[in-house]
Amino acid sequence: MDTRAGRYFRWLLFWQQQGRCCYCGEHVLLTYRPYDAARPYAATLEHLHRRADGGTGHPSNLAMACKRCNDTRGERDWLSYTSWRRDEF
Ligand SMILES: [Zn+2]
Repeated sequence: MDTRAGRYFRWLLFWQQQGRCCYCGEHVLLTYRPYDAARPYAATLEHLHRRADGGTGHPSNLAMACKRCNDTRGERDWLSYTSWRRDEF
């Protein structure tokens, strides 16, 4: 989501989450350059409830995740994915 609103929310969530991914807790890289956006730790906007499951683009449904987590989450719900990411299973 590289719209103006998307950039704004990434910036906002970056500060709210103290620069850490909402899943793995690693520091993310807030960047606007396409080259950096392909890195595993690039900040991405995540929909907690997947849009395929009826989740909206409302701020309450958005979180910041690193690209690696975002890419590998697949169809898991965000809570179980967080636990799995943090080795809590
Ligand atoms: Zn992550």
